[in-house]
Amino acid sequence: MTGGCRDALAAKPLRAVYDLLLRCYGTQGWWPGETPFEVMVGAILTQNTSWSNVEQAIANLKQTGLLQPDAMLRCPVAALARVIRPAGYFNVKASRLRNLCLFLDAHGSLEALSALPDRELRDLLLAVGGIGPETADDILLYGLQRPFFVIDAYTRRVFSRLGVIQGDETYERLRRRFEKALGPDVRVMQEYHALIVRHAKHRCRKQPVCAGCCLYQACDLAKEPVVAASRSAPPSP
Ligand code: SF4
Repeated sequence: MTGGCRDALAAKPLRAVYDLLLRCYGTQGWWPGETPFEVMVGAILTQNTSWSNVEQAIANLKQTGLLQPDAMLRCPVAALARVIRPAGYFNVKASRLRNLCLFLDAHGSLEALSALPDRELRDLLLAVGGIGPETADDILLYGLQRPFFVIDAYTRRVFSRLGVIQGDETYERLRRRFEKALGPDVRVMQEYHALIVRHAKHRCRKQPVCAGCCLYQACDLAKEPVVAASRSAPPSP
């Protein structure tokens, strides 16, 4: 990284980190899902499990014709739980999917929901049983194209190591900070969250692989003497 990049990070860190990650990994094109409802279902199924397990559960839903709000609502919860078993916590998640379908049914349709203002829509989603802030913002950002930034454990890990955040701030505080830095740009928010996940899985793991990291020069953790000596080397130009 050049001195210019370091200056940019100091002045405008969140946007500058985005630019560096995008340059490093390229466009991620999230979220995998053919319809807004599939994105909503995926956001619930991915709670506490890996995406590969979610893919299997979604494939089962497609095979059984249940990846439609009406069909899912007609299906007994126990039967739905069997179909989504690969996603884990299947009884809890089946109930949450039913809550989502009841919510959609109560508001008429996805199209009717799409007419609501951002804040009102978020508040309504947060009132659905089993939909917390991270799931709501997944749904809003990727399913409904609304400008809400998703905060997850990967975000906290990467940005606390960089020294940009403490890591124990409330969800809402961090979300607002990212949104303020990025502006209401849905495409950038979608890409940024995907890039953070990619970086946390590829390099900034629990045991980080700092050598060659595109954020190395800006990273507080990499500057710690023990870390720098044991696992890191400056990135290639
Ligand atoms: S230098 Fe290491 S700790 Fe810092 S962001 Fe990169 S991988 Fe994570």
